[in-house]
Amino acid sequence: MGMDGGGPRRPGTGAAGPVDCAGCRAELSARLDGADDPRVLARVDAHLAGCPACARWLDDAAAVTRLARLGLAVPAPGSNWVSSAAAR
Ligand SMILES: [Zn+2]
Repeated sequence: MGMDGGGPRRPGTGAAGPVDCAGCRAELSARLDGADDPRVLARVDAHLAGCPACARWLDDAAAVTRLARLGLAVPAPGSNWVSSAAAR
């Protein structure tokens, strides 16, 4: 018998450890808001390199942020209420 069972390796949970998806996206959101912390960026970029889901999330978030700065993000609900009921 051996102890070599198939399990996910954990590189260790430290301050310099890899970020998970939630942490990654939180940092990306902060970055889009203008918060640039080089120490965090390195870890976030490392996560992005191996996580297509977060890379895609960043694309969407960046697009929304860009539009928001242009004032085009969320179109205000217009007054397009058409009361087509009792017309006669
Ligand atoms: Zn991720």
